[in-house]
Amino acid sequence: EIGPLNTVAIEVLAERDARIVTLAPGLPDAFFENDGQLTKAEIRALTLAALAPKAGELLWDIGLGAGSVGIEWCLRHPRNRCIGIEERPERAERARRNALDLGTATLDIRIGRAPDALVDLPAPDAIFIGGGASEAGVFDAAWAALKPGGRLVVNGVTLETETLLGNLYARHGGTMRRLAVSRLEPVGGMHGWRAAMPVMQWMVVK
Ligand code: SAH
Repeated sequence: EIGPLNTVAIEVLAERDARIVTLAPGLPDAFFENDGQLTKAEIRALTLAALAPKAGELLWDIGLGAGSVGIEWCLRHPRNRCIGIEERPERAERARRNALDLGTATLDIRIGRAPDALVDLPAPDAIFIGGGASEAGVFDAAWAALKPGGRLVVNGVTLETETLLGNLYARHGGTMRRLAVSRLEPVGGMHGWRAAMPVMQWMVVK
């Protein structure tokens, strides 16, 4: 355990190649072991802002993947909790490692497939759907369980999810945005912008 950071402590951390977890969301992607299925840092920061965590609240992270959104939710406050639902056991295990690695013990991982895996879970203050949104019954089960006044955020990159989100927007309102991020990368001896797939994000308050 490290107390308040001083110069010596920071030097020790640098020598050990340790990472300093800052107070702001949107940690570097490299902080999360992943297989490519990861909500990237810029999108993650905006996703956390949309989820609007308050101290002591519970998030459901449906389609947990590497766990980056749920973990960043838990990192906002020691009493924040997240239930992460992931159908692929190896990804669930990776998310568990990431959570421990980044120092949060309040990510509760359930291996299973939404919507079935959502039955009987405690009602959340906020829900993030990062996977499974286009599957029958996932949105309806999530919406039914969400506390009144709770926030629901869905990110999608496929046309199928975009169609679904268009319909949900027509039915429930809320706000919709499209986030497109490009990062500078080497191209031969020079540099060019590498565009990530645009992410459509729908958010709604119950
Ligand atoms: N936000 C995550 C990435 C999510 S990738 C991160 O930053 O790490 C989407 C994930 O949803 C994948 O791991 C996929 O296995 C999972 N998934 C898709 N449909 C699902 C369903 N119906 N139930 C549970 N998990 C699902």
